[in-house]
Amino acid sequence: MSEAIVVGAGPNGLAAAVTLARQGLSVTVLEAAEEIGGGTATSELTVPGVLHDHCSAVHPMGAGSPFLRSLDLERYGAEWLWPEIDVAHPLDSGRAGVQVRSVAETADGLGDDGPAWDGLFGPLVSGIDGLVEDLLRPVTHVPGYPVRLVRFGLRAVQPASVIARRWKTDEARALFAGVAAHVFHPLTRPVSSSVGLIMTAVGHRFGWPVVRGGSRMVTDALAAMLTETGGTIETGVRVRSLDELPPAKAVLLDLTPSAAATVLGDRLPGHVRRSYARFRHAPGAFKVDLAVEGGVPWRNEACRKAGTVHVGGTFEEVAAAERDINRGRMPERPFVLVAQQHLADPGRSSGSLHPVWAYAQVPNGYTGDATGAVLDRIERFAPGLRDRVVACSVRSPADLQRANPNYLGGDIITGANTALQVAMRPRVAVDPYSTGVPGVFLCSAATPPGAGVHGMCGFNAAQSALRSLARRQR
Ligand SMILES: Cc1cc2nc3c(=O)[nH]c(=O)nc-3n(C[C@H](O)[C@H](O)[C@H](O)COP(=O)(O)OP(=O)(O)OC[C@H]3O[C@@H](n4cnc5c(N)ncnc54)[C@H](O)[C@@H]3O)c2cc1C
Repeated sequence: MSEAIVVGAGPNGLAAAVTLARQGLSVTVLEAAEEIGGGTATSELTVPGVLHDHCSAVHPMGAGSPFLRSLDLERYGAEWLWPEIDVAHPLDSGRAGVQVRSVAETADGLGDDGPAWDGLFGPLVSGIDGLVEDLLRPVTHVPGYPVRLVRFGLRAVQPASVIARRWKTDEARALFAGVAAHVFHPLTRPVSSSVGLIMTAVGHRFGWPVVRGGSRMVTDALAAMLTETGGTIETGVRVRSLDELPPAKAVLLDLTPSAAATVLGDRLPGHVRRSYARFRHAPGAFKVDLAVEGGVPWRNEACRKAGTVHVGGTFEEVAAAERDINRGRMPERPFVLVAQQHLADPGRSSGSLHPVWAYAQVPNGYTGDATGAVLDRIERFAPGLRDRVVACSVRSPADLQRANPNYLGGDIITGANTALQVAMRPRVAVDPYSTGVPGVFLCSAATPPGAGVHGMCGFNAAQSALRSLARRQR
């Protein structure tokens, strides 16, 4: 019998499992899919020898994660690799906003807006290590760096559109819009700048790396750590009810709140059930993976060297796309994210055939085919792309949900970033990981600090479980 059971072997489930195992608990992880990893899957989706990340691709938050940094990931085969340029955001006439690791160098490239970029991100980046420690915990924790946190909070509550007013050039405004749009929320709403501010600052400190051999190497490394401590992982086991599980001191669910409610059934207290039912999901993603001969022919040179390219046009165009997807309308010009992992990790390619990862942000549950829109968006800044595409794999929001029920309606961030859910997710509670069922905790990206391959939701949930076990033993 295991002392702890984790349902779901995504990065957060495995982070929880490793955290518990390192405290001496025997742990079993049960995973519905045939392979572990959840949102870190990697395989030859299109052409033999060309390695595609199915879901997550680029890892500023992973590289900056206090949990992942506390582990010797490299010893277990996971190694970050950085492209020459972290982020580029192409505009018409071959222009682009460009972010590199150094704030000063990035500011230099932004011309008249350089001082304002430096003025905002310089101080933020110099205090980022402590800030990340606080930001990646639930809001109810006692902060280690309260002054930095308050200063950050005063900016983060503002809409991205207000933050962007400090810049005048299309390049700086678009560069911020592209990162801010990872929030999947209208850029005119309160708190919509939070994700852009933290990802830009973390990117200036840790870069926007990919993982050698694919994102799956991160969860493979966590799985190797777990098994080394005696933990076990069973795949092909879909847990539908708590009754299916053997008795354990702690159960951690790497699930959405609604799936957790189903698994817990009548045991779930009424007020928690109602909160989980109110949990809001984000718009969706429409995924397009391409095998491209010679890579994407970007007009702008920096885009040809950038690991991540945000294809959304001006700040206003990105904001219009964010508004539409949140109103349930497919934008005429969707915001498209592109990753070119082979630039940092040439082993992903087969000769001159390179994997190109892309997704369009679409309304939740979108049933149309966005492939043409994604290619059109990229072609606007990279004419001739279509002639170079050798193979293509497409996954709709329904396909994403079929592969992983955590991505409801294609919601790849496991919960909308409304102001309330940024501050408190999945419900307003002193311990957001507690389900209200003794010994059962939620550890997925539906909990603080939210989406990304950083393992902090799992780590925080495991801490909560350990505290509860200690209380019960007293
Ligand atoms: C297309 C896409 C692009 C993304 N891009 C990035 C990126 O570039 N960088 C980044 O940091 N993040 C990115 N993300 C987000 C990131 O992948 C997720 O935030 C992260 O994987 C969440 O981890 P998790 O462990 O909470 O959940 P998941 O990774 O979703 O794992 C949940 C696991 O639980 C399993 N499961 C579900 N139900 C059951 C059940 N009933 N019984 C047993 N097992 C079950 C699932 O099969 C899955 O393996 C992306 C996601 C997608 C889909």
